[in-house]
Amino acid sequence: MSEVKAYAASSKTAELEPLNIERRDITKEDVEIDILYCGVCHSDIHTVKNDWKNSQYPVVPGHEIIGRVTKVGDNVKNFKEGDLVGVGCMVDSCQTCDSCKEDLEQYCENGATYTYNSEDKHLGGYTFGGYSEKVVVDKKFVLSVPENLDIKAVAPLLCAGITTFSPLNHWNVKKGDKVGVIGLGGLGHMGIKFAHAMGAHVVMITTSPGKSGDAKKLGADEVLISKDEEEMKKHANSFDFLLNTVPVGHDVNPYIGLLKRDATMVLVGAIEPLDPIHGGGLIASRKTIAGSLIGGIKETQEMLDFCGKHDIVSDVEMIDIQNINDAYERVQKSDVKYRFVIDMKSLKES
Ligand SMILES: [Zn+2]
Ligand SMILES: [Zn+2]
Repeated sequence: MSEVKAYAASSKTAELEPLNIERRDITKEDVEIDILYCGVCHSDIHTVKNDWKNSQYPVVPGHEIIGRVTKVGDNVKNFKEGDLVGVGCMVDSCQTCDSCKEDLEQYCENGATYTYNSEDKHLGGYTFGGYSEKVVVDKKFVLSVPENLDIKAVAPLLCAGITTFSPLNHWNVKKGDKVGVIGLGGLGHMGIKFAHAMGAHVVMITTSPGKSGDAKKLGADEVLISKDEEEMKKHANSFDFLLNTVPVGHDVNPYIGLLKRDATMVLVGAIEPLDPIHGGGLIASRKTIAGSLIGGIKETQEMLDFCGKHDIVSDVEMIDIQNINDAYERVQKSDVKYRFVIDMKSLKES
């Protein structure tokens, strides 16, 4: 084992502060990664604050990891020292259930091992995430990162990117489709970029008129202010697909009204109760509401390759790890365009 520097929260009310943690020695199947950058996801904050009632302290968050391979095990053939790689939300899964066999490890029926706050099958205790100097990960959960991209801005693709790419891909969004992206934050800004790159006619749907200019710069063709009832009426029954990135419970009925017959709205943000849904809105035109969780490893690699081809990265604001607590305050106020990324040099040199 080796001891590495990290940042951790010791309780749900504590600020993040330095903590040394253990990383395992590599097994034959493992890849050891020197972490260069780690994105700051809203899930990190939910876990630190125990919002989902399953946090195990200390919590070392971080599941948007970019780094360079420093060592590989004997059975690792597809990575070598120096390779640029990524690690997202998962570091292991059972590999034997139907979901795992279909490359959908995020839906592992025996529970995937998440990058942080999951039972650690190697060391006991709980897994520690990317707010640290290095990480050791099973080769099956390591991703290749295209070298042509701005790598610090690649980090958020590992969670915000795949979370929005996967539903667009699964529901076959294609050239000419009218796609609405609801909510412009870390997830929404990636949804716009992907839908645009897939050739869709993209409508940013937001409550804030102030976001119009940014939405268009990111690739939206139109902006629809959801509080404007007249505008909402004009777009009624016209969308082929809606990607709903709103991170909290809300009233989805007005959005159901925007869908065409047989069209689907996919929720990717709100992991909490929604306002009651009127069945009539779904029944009248055979509409669907669905949910989607990140993506499997195979699809995450496809997403990264798609980004390499189309030159897509996140819009990021770089921070030093010493400023992480301020960054959390700002994420909670949606005061970031659109993702904080920690430069891990600040941890190594501290
Ligand atoms: Zn995340
Ligand atoms: Zn499984």
